[in-house]
Amino acid sequence: MINEIYDRTKDSDVLVYPGTRIAVKEEFLGGSGTYAGERFIFSAVTGNVVIDLEKHEISVLPKAKTATIPKNGDIFVGGVVNVSRQMVTIAIHYINNKEVNPTYTLVTHVSQVSREYLDSADEVIFHGDIVRGKIIDAKTIPLQGSLVGSQLGVILSNCSSCGARLKKIGRNKLKCTDCSKIERRKTTIDYGNGHLAFKL
Ligand SMILES: [Zn+2]
Repeated sequence: MINEIYDRTKDSDVLVYPGTRIAVKEEFLGGSGTYAGERFIFSAVTGNVVIDLEKHEISVLPKAKTATIPKNGDIFVGGVVNVSRQMVTIAIHYINNKEVNPTYTLVTHVSQVSREYLDSADEVIFHGDIVRGKIIDAKTIPLQGSLVGSQLGVILSNCSSCGARLKKIGRNKLKCTDCSKIERRKTTIDYGNGHLAFKL
């Protein structure tokens, strides 16, 4: 990054990085988030350039690394990492459509998988399924969630025998696009369209 030069004619949303040359010293005073070399002013942080024309000052506003803190009612998308009779364990990758890193672990009790009674969660959820759900208790570790509701449940799934994509052919009924195996999942109404988003 060290040799990058900031182009002020570009969009101000463009990020600069530590070491980006942002101005010539004769033009501006270096403000916060900057350091000066012999001839140039450089960014000391990753962020957006802010120019104060009155003070002839150039500074860089650091891009805040906003951690997503899960709250009750948030919608998540994640991958199923384990399914037992009683519990589905999910690694959350998105909360309210924003990528989270590192992931959070969430569990869904069998009673929160579907409105229908299930003997076992693995009747309708498989390891590797991508699910959309709602956080119902953000105060516990792991988090607790629900997949109940037409927009919640499995949004993408692969065949348990051959691994090919499963296509929805009926409510909660899926068919393998390769080996034609029929499988059951608790799907969302928009299963398979690739939407991570959710509209309340
Ligand atoms: Zn198959």
